[in-house]
Amino acid sequence: MEHSRIHLSIASINGKEQDFINQAFEQGWLSTVGPQIDGFERNLKTYLQTDKALVALSSGTAAIHLGLLQLGVCSSDEVICQSFTFVASANPITYLGAKPVFVDSELDTWNMSPVFLTEAIEDRIKKTGKAPKAILIVDLYGMPAKMVEIIAIAKKYAIPILEDAAEALGSYIAVEGRKIMCGAMGDYSVFSFNGNKIITTSGGGALVCPDEQSADKVRFFAGQARDAAPHYEHSLLGYNYRLSNISAALGQAQVLSLSDYVEKRRRINKLYRLELAAYPFLTFQDEPNNFNSNYWLTTLVFRSYQEREAVRNHLLSNNIESRPLWKPLHLQPLYAECPFYGDAVAESLFEKGLCLPSSSNLTDLEIKRISDLIKEIIIKK
Ligand SMILES: *Cc1c(COP(=O)(O)O)cnc(C)c1O
Repeated sequence: MEHSRIHLSIASINGKEQDFINQAFEQGWLSTVGPQIDGFERNLKTYLQTDKALVALSSGTAAIHLGLLQLGVCSSDEVICQSFTFVASANPITYLGAKPVFVDSELDTWNMSPVFLTEAIEDRIKKTGKAPKAILIVDLYGMPAKMVEIIAIAKKYAIPILEDAAEALGSYIAVEGRKIMCGAMGDYSVFSFNGNKIITTSGGGALVCPDEQSADKVRFFAGQARDAAPHYEHSLLGYNYRLSNISAALGQAQVLSLSDYVEKRRRINKLYRLELAAYPFLTFQDEPNNFNSNYWLTTLVFRSYQEREAVRNHLLSNNIESRPLWKPLHLQPLYAECPFYGDAVAESLFEKGLCLPSSSNLTDLEIKRISDLIKEIIIKK
């Protein structure tokens, strides 16, 4: 039988999208204001169970940019950033003329190491005479970072946190019996609704803000910083970062299935683990106690680069897409000059790790087939 291509991660459609989009068309809201934007923001807030405010924006990258702007980051500043992430986490630091300082991961969550974070802060204070302006944490592949420890460190040095939860909508940590959702943990937090994320608006993002007042400021900057005047009056530099109402309509429909998509991705992760349970030298990104990942992507670490590449190529020749883990940003040519604190945790994960197909519409049969192909390679060795 011919198999069609299996992608790493694509959005699922629940069938209600067209209705919401039709409604926006019928009501004539085709631009960057409208009831669908308000509704989408409200639904997300409800899902997050937070008192914070939320602004829908044109992308996750735009949300990081405006979040850093809100934290007052400017060209004389350094911003601490998790090295093990997508380049979109760090680029807005550079947009603002500030300098990223990269910090390595720890092995439990693969996210920022509190130990290296402390080392980085202390050393930057010693070398530059001032503390970094912000700490940019990522909940990578949906796994919450060690937020309790990191918030304590941030408080000690009075540095605000920007949480890049682009991949972690639906993930949470249980603290003293209370669920704290990713995206509600930072002073500002970011989501992405790009086509490969857990829900999509075809392209879009959101910035979670501490209160309505700061959210209004974010809306102001996202709309070219237009002053209150009948004509176009501008005192400050703004951006065109608003989400279209049509995209928000798509988002409204998608949010309805969010819990379902999280459950499905978690189930996919469980099935891969069961299929590969006989090979304990293959390691997964495990949830520490009280951590709950949306498992946006299921990831697997092999014994060596060679083994990882053999599996990746074998999958590819069977029309199955997989991808090495993120290349740490301190190893990217773009950021080679930036300071880095850590050892080789992220580097080693990059070398040996692979992201497996994890779309929420992946079938059990497909998971079995992918797992069997992986086994063919690891048994051969
Ligand atoms: C997808 C992603 C982003 C960027 O989001 P866009 O909506 O594509 O701009 C930022 N950080 C991480 C970790 C991501 O995975």
